[in-house]
Amino acid sequence: MDSMQAYQMLEWGRPPEYREVPVPEPKAGQLLVKMAGAGLCHTDLTIIHSPAGFWPDPPFTLGHENAGWVAKMGPDVSGFQEGDGVLISAMYFCNYCDKCARGLHEQCRNIGLPGYGVGYDGGLAEYILVEAKHAVQLGTLNPVEAAPLADAAATSYHAVKLMMPQLVPGSSAVVIGVGGLGAYAVQYLKQLTAARIIAVDTVDDRLSNAKRLGADEAFISDGDTAEKIQDLTQGGADAVFDFVGNTPTLTTGLSSLSQGARLVVAGIGGGEVPMGWERISMNAGFINTRGFNLPDLNEIVALAREGRIEMAATHFAFDAIETGLDALESASVAGRAVVTFS
Ligand SMILES: [Zn+2]
Ligand SMILES: [Zn+2]
Repeated sequence: MDSMQAYQMLEWGRPPEYREVPVPEPKAGQLLVKMAGAGLCHTDLTIIHSPAGFWPDPPFTLGHENAGWVAKMGPDVSGFQEGDGVLISAMYFCNYCDKCARGLHEQCRNIGLPGYGVGYDGGLAEYILVEAKHAVQLGTLNPVEAAPLADAAATSYHAVKLMMPQLVPGSSAVVIGVGGLGAYAVQYLKQLTAARIIAVDTVDDRLSNAKRLGADEAFISDGDTAEKIQDLTQGGADAVFDFVGNTPTLTTGLSSLSQGARLVVAGIGGGEVPMGWERISMNAGFINTRGFNLPDLNEIVALAREGRIEMAATHFAFDAIETGLDALESASVAGRAVVTFS
């Protein structure tokens, strides 16, 4: 194995291409991983359509939701063996700053936007080179199934986990947007908390899916959503998770909070809302969340291994990445879109 196919961003404003590139050699602390599954994600579309200046510059191989098998280990790597199934964290972190030392890898002081598939070579290739500290053992979990756990499922888990101390029996949690991330959030809330779960969306199918996954109430969002939530919860929810993040959803979210509640925003919807002491519920707060940490990844791998979360996916072959991206763009994918490798 000297060379391999990789699906790469070469220049801003130009569609990605398949290229023949050398198979990388793992150095100290690194693993070479044979790819099994690579989740495609809206972030990929954003990167592909992005002008220069925001993301780290190409060339780089796309693909940030990666899982596979350890093919080769660099010197001094311990804790892994060839053939181990591993999940690769989409969050890149240093693991030595004070934030990482506290397990807050999502807040790492030394890493910003770059990660695998975003500046560094990602997993849309036969092999990916990773730092061993970014790999999580999958055990009996199939890496093809596990791929979306590297980003989408983990981001959602982190958001829910932030609110777990408040979500005691008698509490309520609202999930706005129960497509990708939100559908995971409903499952985590059901598995890990005693909260009454209220799902809100603009699409009927997603609401019935949310009910199937454990939502107690589910309804189409409209101008009266906040009022309905206030009625259902007798004075507001303890947590509102907004996976959309546009102006209407942020407005609904802020108006649905009980005293001391939190609006947790994970949706990059470009919304804007006026904030101020008089405008939101007393003692309430706003949490802007991005990413997840190693404890989160290990915990969702455990949940998935025990069969406690549903991970619906549509598979696309490696030579059909463009079909997968088109399907993602037209929102015609059932579950997550995952590229598989022969
Ligand atoms: Zn992603
Ligand atoms: Zn760090």
